[in-house]
Amino acid sequence: MDLAEKAAAMSLESKPKNVQTKREDYIDWKEYFMATAFLAAKRSKDPSSQVGACVVNKDNKIVGTGYNGMPIGCSDEEFPWGKYTESPLDSKYLYVCHAEMNAILNKNAADVKDCTIYVGLFPCNECAKIIIQSGIKEVVYLSDKHAHKPETIASKRMFDAVGIKYWQYKPKNQRIVIDFSDIDWNAMSP
Ligand SMILES: [Zn+2]
Repeated sequence: MDLAEKAAAMSLESKPKNVQTKREDYIDWKEYFMATAFLAAKRSKDPSSQVGACVVNKDNKIVGTGYNGMPIGCSDEEFPWGKYTESPLDSKYLYVCHAEMNAILNKNAADVKDCTIYVGLFPCNECAKIIIQSGIKEVVYLSDKHAHKPETIASKRMFDAVGIKYWQYKPKNQRIVIDFSDIDWNAMSP
């Protein structure tokens, strides 16, 4: 192949494909929302627990995201992140806002009535109360690792009493990779 032929072959290869059918390897809505919750969790400064949440309305629109963190204005540097301290004032628990609370308060809609919340970890009793009071009707969680704790048992008792549906999300893909070089912009149609 001489140079001209090579160039012609290359330009043929880089020509955008005129594909008539949709992609099949796109992520579905549930994956998208749980992945969004997990991406939000990546913002957390908590060294031992990163939780994210994503609130979605009936039209599959995201109306709020959040992750566990210190209240606005309470410095991540000054407030404690520890768990086992002599005084409760020196550990994180009295201060940290959970992901669910933040996702609900961060809403960009008038309210979150009838919405679904996607969250990495089953909500604690304090978040369950906020979820109930906000009008959210469904909870989708990935992990229930604290199922034995009174906080989780109390959450489920409240959710059952008010008819909030909750179910565990089983990911069909264990990994969803965000790779900025993944999409070949040059191969795309203009
Ligand atoms: Zn909570």
